[in-house]
Amino acid sequence: MYEFDRQRITKLSGFGMTQSSDAYLYRPTSEDQIRELLSLARQQGRKVTLRGSARSYGDAPNGSESLCIDICRMNRVIDWNPDSGLITCESGATIETLWRTGIEDGWWPPIVSGTMAPTLAGALGMNIHGKNNFKAGPLGNHVTSLDVMWADGRVETLEPSNPLFFAVISGAGLLGVILRVTIKMSKISTGNLRVLAVSPRDWDQQFELFEKYEGDADYMVSWVDCFGRGDQSGRGQFHAGWYLQSDEADYRSLLIDSQDLPDSIMGLVPKSVVWRFLKPLNNRFGMRFLNAAKHHAGAILGNHKTVTQSLVAFSFLLDYVPNWRNAYLPGGFIQYQSFVPKESAKHVFAAQIQLQQEYRLESFLGVMKRHKQDRFLLTNSVDGYSLALDFKVTTGNKNRLISLCHKMNDLVLSHGGRFYLAKDSTLRKQDLEQYLGPALNEFKALKQELDPECLFVTDQARRIGLI
Ligand SMILES: Cc1cc2nc3c(=O)[nH]c(=O)nc-3n(C[C@H](O)[C@H](O)[C@H](O)COP(=O)(O)OP(=O)(O)OC[C@H]3O[C@@H](n4cnc5c(N)ncnc54)[C@H](O)[C@@H]3O)c2cc1C
Repeated sequence: MYEFDRQRITKLSGFGMTQSSDAYLYRPTSEDQIRELLSLARQQGRKVTLRGSARSYGDAPNGSESLCIDICRMNRVIDWNPDSGLITCESGATIETLWRTGIEDGWWPPIVSGTMAPTLAGALGMNIHGKNNFKAGPLGNHVTSLDVMWADGRVETLEPSNPLFFAVISGAGLLGVILRVTIKMSKISTGNLRVLAVSPRDWDQQFELFEKYEGDADYMVSWVDCFGRGDQSGRGQFHAGWYLQSDEADYRSLLIDSQDLPDSIMGLVPKSVVWRFLKPLNNRFGMRFLNAAKHHAGAILGNHKTVTQSLVAFSFLLDYVPNWRNAYLPGGFIQYQSFVPKESAKHVFAAQIQLQQEYRLESFLGVMKRHKQDRFLLTNSVDGYSLALDFKVTTGNKNRLISLCHKMNDLVLSHGGRFYLAKDSTLRKQDLEQYLGPALNEFKALKQELDPECLFVTDQARRIGLI
């Protein structure tokens, strides 16, 4: 039996460590315990906030004064069928659980994020996309069914034939508790990709590369140097990846051991200390230098070269350096990702970079991807491109940074663009209204019907007017 206990008060933040609030933290292990927690919250006049691995950058997994249900301990694989590739898990299982379960049988998660840490609950709350979004759509496209507990404690199984399926997935933890998920994995015959690297000199070349490879590549992603100016604006490094096919299963490359990321860099430096070396460089001058060095090294040494890379190494680059976010302390950082239709993406991204340079607040990391549209209710998708930008936050730059983001929002919205709630820290209510349009009213009507007391809340939902 759970009790309401002040000792459970915990300061919770998102991955960027810029926004935090206190909540009563509970980590249930069963459906019954979740139901009990919903009742407890009601008795105590508290709201409920749902939380996974807290890999959303801003305040999406936080809930000030709420009873927070952290789903991470409900992480069992309930059923794995190596013939069909269907996997059913409790929703606290992670992307890592998926690949570790499937790979030795020749299956890989259909969609992965840049880190393997997200839970399936959080990944579907936000409906994550991967570097194959232009081809495979978001994770929700590969879910065959999910079990949800509504605010009144009832459990319902949703399938794609039910419109609620498209609202709960992408619903930012505001409609019900995702309990269990069944996903169709992707068949692979080896654990490797063939990866091509090309170093575009400017925006024109960036977009030409995406257009050239979108017809046949399995994955595409490009890093953008946000310090590049004038005719070098948009320079970076583009990667396209293709599953390495083999007539027979290549068991060696499918072994978990051959996928696991190494513990040290070049066998010398333990990865756990690497962020300490990054910290002194994590400022405007250091990052200008590192971005330029990366571009030039790529252009001279690796341009138009193809290498074989394991799926884990290609997919989870950001997991290579544990705790790398600590290099952004004490102020933390935000990620700003906008999605712009293909007709205007080049213009908008170039203007965003120019604005950052005018503000002298260049993003230390810029990452571009190609996307296609999907039909989820709170979707961020467009037939176009996204640019994700990491900004260091300090007490000195915070207000200017928010003003920069709002200017970039106006630009994105005036070209029919959208935003992604997992990466949001600075959206305003009017931004959400403008890009979601009638979908926002539809969402609010569903919220009223499914959760009339508005039990489920997050700090983000309060800030941007989702509830
Ligand atoms: C290094 C890094 C790289 C990333 N790369 C990508 C990427 O390539 N593509 C991409 O799309 N995203 C990416 N992300 C973002 C990340 O995938 C999403 O934020 C994802 O939602 C995180 O899952 P989580 O388990 O941490 O959920 P949280 O961040 O804890 O929660 C996310 C949302 O899900 C809701 N939620 C939690 N549990 C439940 C539940 N049981 N039922 C219903 N709703 C629930 C929460 O209320 C919240 O609104 C990246 C993040 C990091 C840190």
